[in-house]
Amino acid sequence: MPPDTQAVRASMVRKLAAQGVREARVLAAMEAIERHRFVDSALAAQAYEDTSLPIGLGQTISKPSVVARMLDLLLQGRAQPLGRVLEIGTGCGYQAAVLSRLAAEVYSIERLRGLHERARENLRPLRLANLHLLLGDGMQGYAKGAPYAAMIAAAGGQAIPPAWLEQLAPGGRLVAPVETAAGLQALVVVDHTPGGMRQTVLEPVHFVPLKAGVL
Ligand code: SAH
Repeated sequence: MPPDTQAVRASMVRKLAAQGVREARVLAAMEAIERHRFVDSALAAQAYEDTSLPIGLGQTISKPSVVARMLDLLLQGRAQPLGRVLEIGTGCGYQAAVLSRLAAEVYSIERLRGLHERARENLRPLRLANLHLLLGDGMQGYAKGAPYAAMIAAAGGQAIPPAWLEQLAPGGRLVAPVETAAGLQALVVVDHTPGGMRQTVLEPVHFVPLKAGVL
């Protein structure tokens, strides 16, 4: 690990911008959050490469370009910071930390107790008062925090769970990977418009599966 991780993050962010990430707020948040603190120390040297990495229990931290792409989609066209946001799939807590700099309140839910606890440990030193970690089945969303201005899933199922649509505020936007054919996923955006839910299917992606229940 180079001693100056700030310089490494600045270089990561320059590459993300060159790849088309437009939102300066997303780039600033990703420049600030130390991704290497969220992965095993043996993997820290790879933390600022554009790669997904194992975080235990068969799960992975999404690669920086995918995190940036999804957050860019959430902020697009919004001058104001986001209000309440729900993240499904806390994992190691990295994306939740980035989100906490972009939204008023962040609820992040994880179904695996081991990862929920690891995320809590990883996030403790950051003291992010607007970030709320929950252990539960995110396929049900989290009704107590609803409605959400934005929802973001880090795991993909066969369809968008109905609870997510019910908990999306008018004017709100949801970004999630969804299965398009056996073993294939695409990034899907759902906008809650006055005329109803408007869905847009974007590029192919590869996320871990969305699963029901808490373990
Ligand atoms: N944003 C995370 C990515 C973690 S990978 C990070 O920055 O590390 C996706 C996570 O979604 C996994 O930890 C997986 O356990 C979780 N997951 C899958 N189905 C879920 C569900 N129904 N509810 C909550 N979390 C779920």
